[in-house]
Amino acid sequence: MQVLYKSTRGKEETVTASMAILKGLSEDGGLFVPTSIPRLDVPMERLAQMSYQETAYEVMSRFLTDFTEEELKQCISNAYDEKFDTELIAPLHEANGVHFLELFHGATIAFKDMALSILPHLMTTAAKKNHVENEIVILTATSGDTGKAAMAGFADVPGTKIIVFYPKHGVSPIQEKQMVTQKGKNTYVVGITGNFDDAQTAVKKMFNDRGLAEELNQAGYQFSSANSINIGRLVPQIVYYVYAYATLIREGKIKEGEEINVVVPTGNFGNILAAFYAKQMGLPVHKLICASNENRVLYDFFRTGTYDRKREFILTSSPSMDILISSNLERLIYRLTGEDSQKCAELMEALSKGGEYTITDEMKEQLSDFYGNYCSEGETREAISATYYGSNYVIDPHTAVAAGVYQKYLRETEDTRPAVIASTASPYKFTRSVMDAISDRYEGLDDFGLVDALEKLSGVKIPKAVEEIRTAPVLHDTVVDAPDMPATVKKILGIIK
Ligand SMILES: *Cc1c(COP(=O)(O)O)cnc(C)c1O
Repeated sequence: MQVLYKSTRGKEETVTASMAILKGLSEDGGLFVPTSIPRLDVPMERLAQMSYQETAYEVMSRFLTDFTEEELKQCISNAYDEKFDTELIAPLHEANGVHFLELFHGATIAFKDMALSILPHLMTTAAKKNHVENEIVILTATSGDTGKAAMAGFADVPGTKIIVFYPKHGVSPIQEKQMVTQKGKNTYVVGITGNFDDAQTAVKKMFNDRGLAEELNQAGYQFSSANSINIGRLVPQIVYYVYAYATLIREGKIKEGEEINVVVPTGNFGNILAAFYAKQMGLPVHKLICASNENRVLYDFFRTGTYDRKREFILTSSPSMDILISSNLERLIYRLTGEDSQKCAELMEALSKGGEYTITDEMKEQLSDFYGNYCSEGETREAISATYYGSNYVIDPHTAVAAGVYQKYLRETEDTRPAVIASTASPYKFTRSVMDAISDRYEGLDDFGLVDALEKLSGVKIPKAVEEIRTAPVLHDTVVDAPDMPATVKKILGIIK
């Protein structure tokens, strides 16, 4: 069955999967959504025997229906290879009675690698299929992890350039070092003086700027997006939920058909939306537990039905979740409206103009698949230390937010279904927060002193991604104000001096 894509804010027109991937964002400012969610029509006993790559093909081929089998298999094998430090790609680790789904075994040791190692291949394949002659310029706003993972994916990919904007004072030292040392002739990294939302808003504006698009076109370029608004990122993220379930079956931890709970540390709502799509495909998931940090806009939304971004932006120890405008929530809102693009557009307009919107009671009733809660900074530290002292397992602050919220869920509901926690980053990426949460004896150490101490403490070898940046030279040092981002892009592309 063919799956097409339509805009959450648009009329009737639909595009193919490959066009949706190329465009990133729809011209009307909406996000592309599948016209229908395909069923997971492969027997679980077969899935339980499959490798990650085979599972990826089964899931992704159901959504990206205009890719040939050969094209898709090629993309998958180029993506999920030795860049990952385990053949399992996304292994499960059981600790403190839950299953941590480790999504950080790729090139940049955060879960963004799961999708961004395949997106460049999907995109260049899509460009070929659609006879695109322009060079593709990937424009990305990052809260820390997307930028590096996108650059790692796109570096030196012919026919592409990638420009990354990150909040200069809103990422961890290791995250920043990873970005500013990025090699590759086609990679550009720019710090901005504002926060992530400023960067994301300015990027979205550039995507919607027709005049700018025309200027680019004349110079032989066109924009696309590596942010999680791109359907080419969302679809690969569905895979690991199916794979995790199948792994639990294979290992005899659950019985076929048994429901599990899935806990996701959430920022832009991309990862948890992928879990929701997995559930819609038929994966036996009971609750989708949405974990926020102190930027608890989603928790408040699930509780009250009002999404209100008018609040202080808090810098936390889980910077990749420091977000007040969760872009992918729009895809859920669209479903809640009964796929009414006009209604959805009105709500999004209210958010951008007035900073808030409220959904109807009828829409709110459909949110029963979700449970939302949040962790304070103290609770996050507590979750890191409880997991370490309870199971000798070191988790990063993002994963800790999820672990902490899961404990709250357990206390409130006593629902003891098996739980999978999406473990979104390696603790090596956030050594300061992690080590401080475990003990105060590490206070005096510098960034790499902490890295060495973490290796001793956890017994987990220092990942290559961290070893590499220990001595790497800084190659990018531009910092601009958010309003100057378009001019910066034009300068990089040689459109203006
Ligand atoms: C991006 C990111 C998140 C948030 O994921 P969303 O899809 O934006 O909700 C959580 N943890 C880490 C480590 C991340 O990099």
